[in-house]
Amino acid sequence: MVRWGLMTALCLAAPVWGGEAENLARAIRENSFDRQECYRVRDLSLAIEDFKIYLTDGHLIFSRPVGGKRIAAVFVADVEGGDAEVILLPPDRAERRSLASYIHSPNLDEHFRTGVFLFTGDIYETILAQLPSNPANRRTPEVGALLEEQFTPTLRNLSASYQTRLVLDLLNHAGGGDAVFASVLESANLGPFDLVYDPLRAEPIIAGQMTSRDNRLFLDAWTSFKTRSMRQETTPRPPDLALSDYRIEATIGTDLELKATTRVKVRPLHSGVRAVTFDISPLMTVTSATVDGRPAEVLQRESPRGNAMRAGNEMFLVALTEPLQAGRDYEFVFGHTGKVVFDTGDRVLFVTARGNWYPLHGLQFATYDLTFRHPKDLDLVAPGELVETRADGDSRLTRFRTRSQIRFAGFNLGNYARARAERGGYLVEVCANRALQPDLKRSPSMPLRDVINIQPSRRASETLSEPFPSTAPNPLDRLQEIATGVASALEFMAGRFGPPALDHLTVSPIPGTFGQGFPGLIYLSTLSYLRTVPRSAGSLAQAQELFFQQVLQAHETAHQWWGNRVTTGSYRDSWMMEALANYSALLYLEKTSGAHSVDTMLDTYRSELLAKGENGQLVDSAGPITMGMRLETSQDPGAWRSITYGKGTWIIHMLRRYLGDQRFFAMLAEVLKRYDHQEMSTEDFRRVAARFTPPRSDDADLETFFDTWVYGTGIPALKMTYSVKGKAPALRLSGAVTQAEVGADFSALVPVEIHLAGGQTITQWVRCGSDPGLFGMALKQSPARVTLDPDRAVLRR
Ligand SMILES: [Zn+2]
Repeated sequence: MVRWGLMTALCLAAPVWGGEAENLARAIRENSFDRQECYRVRDLSLAIEDFKIYLTDGHLIFSRPVGGKRIAAVFVADVEGGDAEVILLPPDRAERRSLASYIHSPNLDEHFRTGVFLFTGDIYETILAQLPSNPANRRTPEVGALLEEQFTPTLRNLSASYQTRLVLDLLNHAGGGDAVFASVLESANLGPFDLVYDPLRAEPIIAGQMTSRDNRLFLDAWTSFKTRSMRQETTPRPPDLALSDYRIEATIGTDLELKATTRVKVRPLHSGVRAVTFDISPLMTVTSATVDGRPAEVLQRESPRGNAMRAGNEMFLVALTEPLQAGRDYEFVFGHTGKVVFDTGDRVLFVTARGNWYPLHGLQFATYDLTFRHPKDLDLVAPGELVETRADGDSRLTRFRTRSQIRFAGFNLGNYARARAERGGYLVEVCANRALQPDLKRSPSMPLRDVINIQPSRRASETLSEPFPSTAPNPLDRLQEIATGVASALEFMAGRFGPPALDHLTVSPIPGTFGQGFPGLIYLSTLSYLRTVPRSAGSLAQAQELFFQQVLQAHETAHQWWGNRVTTGSYRDSWMMEALANYSALLYLEKTSGAHSVDTMLDTYRSELLAKGENGQLVDSAGPITMGMRLETSQDPGAWRSITYGKGTWIIHMLRRYLGDQRFFAMLAEVLKRYDHQEMSTEDFRRVAARFTPPRSDDADLETFFDTWVYGTGIPALKMTYSVKGKAPALRLSGAVTQAEVGADFSALVPVEIHLAGGQTITQWVRCGSDPGLFGMALKQSPARVTLDPDRAVLRR
């Protein structure tokens, strides 16, 4: 558990610019409590959307004003019988279950002794208006002097975490529902925990706790959800800034430092905005910004608390001299610089993929024109068409342009050898490092980290005990093989799903054990370039070999559709892109290596889900797949990976078995058509899939399927019994399927196959639940055999 004091160490030094935003930021960091604004308080309350805070009995002190507003307060229950209480009721079962997994209660109803509050709304005025309601309430400057001294350091630590966010509101004069409220409450049971209302988040309410484990800082989000009023809305909110037409000019020096000028068109949704925010990797420093040629002030500094769940990026603020007008296009120009390229040795380079290398505002479809000046001895690859590449003084200039809109532009560079393959009108170009990275020369045991999606976040790591099976590794061994393989996977998928995001795909190496699928550009683990010795069938080593030699490249290829044509908006839906990409890779694997290879992968995923996590619980029980990145918690950091990829793959596989191949493939094609260049939610996916359920389905709307596998947890143990009674030709088959090791509300459909003597097979889908699922039929002759789920149609023990 982290104490407040630790937060100091996590805040970086502030750049000094001295504009209005920086002046506000400094005032926030140097804010202190105001002893003249200290009150003995009884029976006050604050209601902020879905939570209520009761300041029952104690003292409350406010901070000095910043930008004319009092923006902080601390409550202490420092009197005899002093008390305060917070109540937060999560709106749905999954959120109640998530909360309970941390605090052993589905609702947050907690008494607290100390509460620090930061706000930009009218909290001060609201409290002052309530003071006359109790005659005991009065000003207490003598207590104020003590509290001012005791809590000002705490205030400064917490304020530093939120300063960019607070400055944004202060510059934009946010009020009412637009104003942020952040608090850290400390209770005897739970220690310090965070409770935040931030209307700029897609889910404004969040309660959780900062914890550190193994030198990593986690924000365990106990619960996170949309406010009551947002839950009524049926259409998603458009972005407050629409970005288009990126033009980036970047120079990569011999020291691999990247200096860039990024130009982008920005169209605001609202008028009167004085400050806007963008996201960028913390490795990048934004050195300047102009808007339509006029200099704007940049405020870049945030701490882990404020940036938790921002996927490896940090928020920075641009303060304008003039308010923006809705609907007009502005030209924003950013100067930014940083170290995102590293040399692992022998010119084998690693482009860090953990955050944006240029400013973004969410993920939006845009065209890109990318010009790089880079060291002469290096090749540079980026999405789109190569417009030109030529010597440019001491360096080389390479320019790319995308014809279609994409949501993110990555790049890669190295001393490459290249191979090409063309299939079905699509060109695949594969780059390989000419040199072997130093750590692969030692042939060490390789950790199997995972494939990650377009917006990589925090990657879980997991170590496989098997050494990576390569003798005399050579990074050029599989160059042509990869080109042919990826081109063939691209053609296979284009045949099923339609055209990919871009018709030119470049594959380039990345040191590490993962891949990444940008539109038009794939990062492929350097391990995938090495030839391996064959492994024994069905073994963990074989699964690992399949992963690096076939699945990874097909998975990243599949992201050309899943994630780069069809997209998702919320972290709750991103599992679908991973699950669909991975299952598309398995479909290709099935075609090239046979169904048994798919079975090997499915069995590996199942074992991972049934393994005990670091907290001693089954990995699957960490939470439903729709919790997304929130599954990567201090309790079990590896659960997110196993559930997103492993369970996700099983979910799509089970859907395939339930719909049947023909309907399943028609469904995937329909998803691509319906959600092309659009965001698809989990419920959207369910509704499309439900249109393809077989006639007379027991779960025609797939609600039970999604409740069980997508919104729920559990892997059942299933047992079948049956008997045949009567005399031929008037026989009666009756049987039952019972489930164990799952909760009472778990319900799954399971196929039972009845094989008749003549070779005919009848499949009955049996609904299991807390009561045994019964099946039966009249038969003329005794069945040859009756089997339960012979074809891995259900994820079970
Ligand atoms: Zn992926």
